[in-house]
Amino acid sequence: MTGKAPLYNRLALIGVGLIGSSIARASRLQNVAGSIVATARSPATRRRIAELGLADQVVETNAAAVAGADLVIVSIPVGACGEVAREIGPYLAPGATVSDVGSVKGAVVRDMAPHLPANAHFVPAHPVAGTEFSGPDAGFAELFVNRWCILTPPDGTDAAATEKLATFWRALGANVETMTPDHHDLVLAITSHLPHLIAYTIVGTAAELGEVTRSEVLQFSAGGFRDFTRIAASDPTMWRDVFLANKDAVLEMLGRFNEDISALTRAIRNGDGEKLFEHFTHTRAIRKGIVQIGQDSPAPDFGRPHPDLPHTPLPKPYAGE
Ligand code: NAP
Repeated sequence: MTGKAPLYNRLALIGVGLIGSSIARASRLQNVAGSIVATARSPATRRRIAELGLADQVVETNAAAVAGADLVIVSIPVGACGEVAREIGPYLAPGATVSDVGSVKGAVVRDMAPHLPANAHFVPAHPVAGTEFSGPDAGFAELFVNRWCILTPPDGTDAAATEKLATFWRALGANVETMTPDHHDLVLAITSHLPHLIAYTIVGTAAELGEVTRSEVLQFSAGGFRDFTRIAASDPTMWRDVFLANKDAVLEMLGRFNEDISALTRAIRNGDGEKLFEHFTHTRAIRKGIVQIGQDSPAPDFGRPHPDLPHTPLPKPYAGE
């Protein structure tokens, strides 16, 4: 505790899954909210929020959650944000900041903005941080540390409200960038949405292969496949909504991807080793760049610790003929 007043008096969290519960945990530790009130759609999740002690108060409705709150963060699938905005609009305190964490921004702004009163500040946000796990147990306070949080305030948003929310995210450990919703959606289509689509495709294709048995796919997965399976295990509801909400940008990037994969297909068919080598050298440099700016670990195997693997000693040395 710093002894200073918290940044916001009352933080309302609507939706407490991986992202919402990470915000709750980090907010507590970082003294950014005087009190936290939380709600979720299902009684089971509301019960779990209380059991985990993630909020000072757990309420049953979205309207009750936002009453008296000066910051409201909606952390639910993007397809449901419009309906929640419609519900909370009439109950927001004057001057409250309303934000979200959705992975798509254009559709969220389109769906939420019309329902929010003029005396509320709407500052959409996307913390670019996550795991393949869901629910209130999956969150942790350090999730946002050294990750980017992108704010996409619509034109005319109060600059002080945007800056205050940026301060909130910085206190949770994030680096903050501001951009337009459309630009966000284009950037994330290539850096996040297309990689997820590719992972979902490869894992599905491998699972359907007739001549390779399922057990062989699993047995030899360390050859690269298993890294796709982690991404392909991401929440189906969330990702269904992402592709529906960011349709245009994803189709644009998919078009480019298809052209590039055709070029590599041609290189393989023509035995064009030079082309393949040149391409792979270029992509290896991109990986190095990501490590250099601290967005991934330089350790082999993505820095995975392997505490869950049984210790497997080497076999006895070869005894000779
Ligand atoms: P999550 O762990 O599955 O939690 C989702 C929360 O939303 C739960 O509290 C759930 O309530 C609630 N919810 C689901 N459908 C709803 C609906 N139709 N109406 C109202 N509430 C609903 O999801 P998450 O990973 O935290 O993702 C939440 C948001 O963060 C999504 O918009 C996603 O795009 C964004 N995001 C996710 C990641 C990531 O890697 N996961 C990263 C950045 C941003 P119940 O538990 O009661 O069903």
